[in-house]
Amino acid sequence: MKFDIRPTANPVSEKDRAARLVDPGFGRVFTDHMAIVRYTQGKGWHDARVESRANFPLDPAMAVLHYAQEIFEGLKAYRRDDGGVNLFRPDANARRFRQSADRMAMAQLPESVFIDAVEQVVRIDRAWIPGGEGSLYLRPFMIASEVFLGVKPSSEYIFAVIASSVGSYFKGGPAPVSIWVSENYTRAAIGGTGAVKCGGNYAASLRAQAEAIEHGCDQVVFLDAVERRYIEELGGMNVFFAFDDGSLLTPPLGTILPGITRDSIIALARDAGTRVREEPYTIDQWRADAASGRLKEAFACGTAAVISPIGKVRSTSGDFLINGGAAGPVAMGLRKQLVDIQYGRAADPHNWIVKVF
Ligand SMILES: *Cc1c(COP(=O)(O)O)cnc(C)c1O
Repeated sequence: MKFDIRPTANPVSEKDRAARLVDPGFGRVFTDHMAIVRYTQGKGWHDARVESRANFPLDPAMAVLHYAQEIFEGLKAYRRDDGGVNLFRPDANARRFRQSADRMAMAQLPESVFIDAVEQVVRIDRAWIPGGEGSLYLRPFMIASEVFLGVKPSSEYIFAVIASSVGSYFKGGPAPVSIWVSENYTRAAIGGTGAVKCGGNYAASLRAQAEAIEHGCDQVVFLDAVERRYIEELGGMNVFFAFDDGSLLTPPLGTILPGITRDSIIALARDAGTRVREEPYTIDQWRADAASGRLKEAFACGTAAVISPIGKVRSTSGDFLINGGAAGPVAMGLRKQLVDIQYGRAADPHNWIVKVF
């Protein structure tokens, strides 16, 4: 599929762009362009374009607005010291996007079109990639665009890629996060959409996240929906536990989102000879292991923040600290290893990097 490339007639001036890149934060500074591809049943994918970032015309009866048939992805472009630009495992995002589409009964976008769209946006908006520990966050997504109020899979879709300049997630190194154990809400059940990157999962997590904030915590951690005792993941990040025998544990796939950061950490740890178990782990065991000293560290991981150490866990049964509430060497070591690969400062033994420039 060939993209029709139409550079914007009104790019943001160099001066304004430089001002916006000083402290971009996350998800507020957008680039000049977007990629867009349309799907119509019977015709397939068509009208691939890279054009000025602009509003979508939204009919009020568009299916996505009523029945939430929507999926998304998140990945980053990193500026290397030599001025080139890296993507990290875009093929994994493309594959997961197809799996998400399948679960949500949406049209499946060929992985090559997904990757091409992402690369086109990085190419045309490369000036928006901040230097240093900043990056360009790419947000591919797909919405059901048929105008129809009947409940059925849409016959039309819009796939688009937008991009946002983001700063270092943590100024001055990752600060440990405090997490609230949700007892009132669950995130996913067997047979549901927990393993799918769909907007609806996030909508359903916001009440629990608000409860975490009411309890003075940064993030919520969800337990399984059946026994309500196995750790699943945070609202948007997977979780790892590091023990005194040097091993790592992370909850198994199934109802959790199969994170690419999670998968990469497992691979890097195993490369180093670390034993990594993908096994269920209960909140009671977590508390007991933190008390006995068997548990050394816990951390959350995802594309946006890479690795966030967990310093404190709070629930209705009380609080406990991990590693005295401080970031530990396992989390920080893995974080540095991963970030160095992403920015092209270290060898890439698994061929995860795609050089756009
Ligand atoms: C995206 C996401 C993650 C992290 O996935 P990465 O591929 O590592 O960015 C974890 N949990 C949820 C619920 C997510 O949506």
